[in-house]
Amino acid sequence: MTKQSFAPWTEEQVERLQLRQQTYLLHPYTCLRHSYRALRPTVNGWVCDGPGCDYSQNWAQDVDVNKTSWWNNVGPIWDDLEDA
Ligand SMILES: [Zn+2]
Repeated sequence: MTKQSFAPWTEEQVERLQLRQQTYLLHPYTCLRHSYRALRPTVNGWVCDGPGCDYSQNWAQDVDVNKTSWWNNVGPIWDDLEDA
């Protein structure tokens, strides 16, 4: 069973989640009302930036919040892209 991590999160954790949302290598967390819209992480949880949308979500997979496994694979790629 996958462990979940509940907000509030630290700035560092939010930054990690934001990077995860932008990798394109992983399906992003999305709004339940706008399935195409990636959620934006905040210290208080995910929010949707859709017009008039108040959807929020206060959890993420622990592996994404405190991450290491996907980050170990994706992080180096991301760093390469940043340097490009
Ligand atoms: Zn939405």
